[in-house]
Amino acid sequence: MTLGNLTIKKFHEGLISKKFSAVEVAEKFFSQIDKENGEIGAYLNLSKDEAIAQANAVDTALAGGKEIPILAGVPFAIKDNILIEGGSATVASKILENYKSAYDATVIRKLKENQAVLLGKTNLDEFAMGSSTENSAFRKTRNPHDPTRVPGGSSGGSAAAVAANMALAALGTDTNGSIRQPASFCGVVGLKPTYGVVSRHGIIALGSSLDQVGPLTKTVEDASIIFEAINGRDEFDSTSLDKAFRHENISLDEIRNLKVGIPKEYFIDGIDKEVEKGIEETIEKLKSLKIEFKKVSLPHTKYAISVYYVILPAEASTNLARYDGVRYARVSSVPDDSSLREIYLKDKGAGFGSESKRRILLGTFVLSAGYYDAYYTKAQKVRSLIKQDFDEVFKKVDVIITPTTPTPAFKLGEKTDDPLAMYLADIFTSPSSLSGFPAVSIPVKKYEVGSGELPVGFQLIGRHFREADILNLGQYYEEI
Ligand code: GLN
Repeated sequence: MTLGNLTIKKFHEGLISKKFSAVEVAEKFFSQIDKENGEIGAYLNLSKDEAIAQANAVDTALAGGKEIPILAGVPFAIKDNILIEGGSATVASKILENYKSAYDATVIRKLKENQAVLLGKTNLDEFAMGSSTENSAFRKTRNPHDPTRVPGGSSGGSAAAVAANMALAALGTDTNGSIRQPASFCGVVGLKPTYGVVSRHGIIALGSSLDQVGPLTKTVEDASIIFEAINGRDEFDSTSLDKAFRHENISLDEIRNLKVGIPKEYFIDGIDKEVEKGIEETIEKLKSLKIEFKKVSLPHTKYAISVYYVILPAEASTNLARYDGVRYARVSSVPDDSSLREIYLKDKGAGFGSESKRRILLGTFVLSAGYYDAYYTKAQKVRSLIKQDFDEVFKKVDVIITPTTPTPAFKLGEKTDDPLAMYLADIFTSPSSLSGFPAVSIPVKKYEVGSGELPVGFQLIGRHFREADILNLGQYYEEI
């Protein structure tokens, strides 16, 4: 068995036919982690004992003749902003360095019910703010395809773990592209579901009107299998919806009924040549399936980044207010008899990195009396216009195709001194996030680590709750 060729189905079949045991496979992933993680830095911490115990339970169930779910024994990497009871959840921030999760996130409870094996927690940009994982307070993550480059962000650790065969699959979160952009940079598949279909309970909140959990995987089918396991209404998340997604394969005839829109605003000057070539090849390939394409327009696309960087800091500054040195483990050495103000100042000062501070300041500013309407309310209005663009286009087409990012993975350090350049990495993922539509990033082709090529991804955006359209189309694409 080679880890690189393993998919969830192949793994499941191998387990059932006793080609290998769950423990053997988990051990193999841990040796790969021993070999690669030092350089790649995908994981922040590992939970080997628990993982081997989980794998052992699967082997025991199988030996006892029990039926096992398709995710049983599947080795997962989990982004470190997702709570696993008793474990750390640092969000790659010093401010939560000493925090231990009090409960399982709903997505973790679901993975555990499906008997998945949880290998460890992965690196991210602090509080999931960033596009390169360089904002982590703890370590750098490198792109497995070229270690001088970033893996993307903020779910860079999860994407790198899957790309470097240090996990069969991973969970990430996506607020404005944080699953899709690193998936594109690392040559893996990343799905951001419709806002609300996966519970956010137990996810450390960044932007509550935008955050979604989703899978990063080798294939579209794997993403679909995981999405089926984690979606659904949850009483602990009042924004969650019951639109139960079932993974099923649809016929090529049904796929041919889908109309695909090409929005002119995503094919602009300044996008990288490789990205342009990649998306053109993809469209040609899909045309061979006899799918109808239409040129469409999403005229408010150009405002998405500006809108996001008003709304997100507003929500983040509100969500991050709770890390005050009192409610969570203290990180500064401020004496206990200090005034509350001193504790707040010292702990926040010592605990937050510069991007978090920047967003807290920005968010507090745009929400302050006198500026609220000029910035926050205005941004919400433009957000509605961005959504209306999609509503119009989805009257004519079922799916929209775009590049995922304007460039392939950039160099470590290339954008760290220029926050605005970093923000522009979200340009193609932002509009669908702001309007809650599901979107998946799929590699233009299979990129082998070590081949010297930099991966490029394309994005399929679907109607609300129509993950089935983008996933099935993506699956056919992979098979061409
Ligand atoms: N690049 C975006 C940001 O910095 C991505 C956030 C996300 O999706 N978590 O806010």
